[in-house]
Amino acid sequence: MQNENLVLLFSARDNAYSIIDHNLTEDEAKTSVSGLRKQGLPAFRMEQRSPHFLTDAGGCCACAKDIGASCLGETARRR
Ligand SMILES: [Zn+2]
Repeated sequence: MQNENLVLLFSARDNAYSIIDHNLTEDEAKTSVSGLRKQGLPAFRMEQRSPHFLTDAGGCCACAKDIGASCLGETARRR
């Protein structure tokens, strides 16, 4: 069985991640990443440890955990 994939942008200047999408197949994620890179965006694909239940990737704490960050809502507020 194939793991789900998430797509994220990494901003080296802010040292911050933004989640673009999650629960994608590997092929969907690769397509998404190459589309974003064509626009000059620093996009990456990562394998998820498990499927995520939230439909909104932007507020998904499981995404944050998979990329080794604390929940994005908290991070944004603390800075
Ligand atoms: Zn997620």
